Amino acid sequence: MLLNSSLHELKRRDAALNIINSKIKARDRSHLYDLTGLSGGFPIKKEDIDLLETYAGSAIFEEELQIQGKKHLGGKKILALNRTSSGILASIMALVKPDEEVVHYLPQLPSHPSIPRSTELIKAKYREFNNLNEFEIGSKTSLVIITGSTMDHEVLSEEEFLRIIKISRSDHIPVLVDDASGARLRTVIYHQPRAMDMGANLVITSTDKLMDGPRGGLMSGDADLIDLIKSKAHQFGLEAQSPLIAGMVRALEDFNSERILKAQKRKKEIYQILINDLKEIKQTPTGFMLSPEGLMNELKYLNVKHPLSPMEAANILAMILLREYNIITIPAVGMPGASPTIRIDLASKDAQRLDQNYIIEAFKGSLLRLKTIIDDEMVCRKLLYD
Ligand SMILES: *Cc1c(COP(=O)(O)O)cnc(C)c1O
Repeated sequence: MLLNSSLHELKRRDAALNIINSKIKARDRSHLYDLTGLSGGFPIKKEDIDLLETYAGSAIFEEELQIQGKKHLGGKKILALNRTSSGILASIMALVKPDEEVVHYLPQLPSHPSIPRSTELIKAKYREFNNLNEFEIGSKTSLVIITGSTMDHEVLSEEEFLRIIKISRSDHIPVLVDDASGARLRTVIYHQPRAMDMGANLVITSTDKLMDGPRGGLMSGDADLIDLIKSKAHQFGLEAQSPLIAGMVRALEDFNSERILKAQKRKKEIYQILINDLKEIKQTPTGFMLSPEGLMNELKYLNVKHPLSPMEAANILAMILLREYNIITIPAVGMPGASPTIRIDLASKDAQRLDQNYIIEAFKGSLLRLKTIIDDEMVCRKLLYD
């Protein structure tokens, strides 16, 4: 096995970051293309810099955070957290007791790992559903989580959304929406309402997904629930500090849905060309993707026999995209448990600098490269970890 543990994934991530480091040092940042859709921008202004301190900064940025956060997410009160995962952990710690249960509804498995892992940490039960007919709440359920848009950008329909919220609320169970990317994808591309406007009690989004903010979790919701979660977050150091809040506030002020809409148009053109050669490419709202299983099929169509697991093949392909085409995707740089799907997000800032032929060539070329080295374990190992 080349890659079968979190530790392997960490090593692969370290290798990818080392490659990025040497590429930036050898040339400059402009020769790299981060197409993950996770920009991690930090658009603070000059006048913000002197206020990036623990208390004065919080006093100032917190006020604007409440205004901008409510504008973006709706709801009554805003809480900024270090990551979306931190907000999910804080919510589960605040609202669920051991031997109670978290029920999760999502359009497509798998779940983001933070939800089952946080539930396991507090020794509560966890059940997940992606079929409305099977969805049920138990007598021990104390929190329902809905994922609005998955890691692979599969979006929940408005009808299912409303139905789950209705069932949960009629049983007086609070509903938290994990809208990490959904807060923008659902509203901008699918014209769905904001989670709070559909009756959710809590929603969290990631300020670096489909917007140019820092990686952070922006939560909104009913004031009493937010207070409970905020208290837990502070006890365990999960809350955002003032520099992060400043970055989030400025990114929210700058947010503009135009780039998302342009990406949607552009991906249709690229997809039409790619699908001629790569039958397993799928469209996403703002780009396209190749799942690990899809990649296995592509290799089958090319009559390639090999010993790799889907996850290994996808990670190696991502490392080829990075090493040979300077394209950063999540299976190269993602943390353990991140989705192994190779997803190109054309709403990424760097995608604007890329010619569509380059993207098409990179995909076709890296697949052919994978084909030629796939039987050589030493070379595969080097591509992953060196
Ligand atoms: C990205 C994502 C998260 C976690 O965001 P982090 O910033 O990595 O903590 C959680 N849920 C979904 C659906 C996501 O897409």
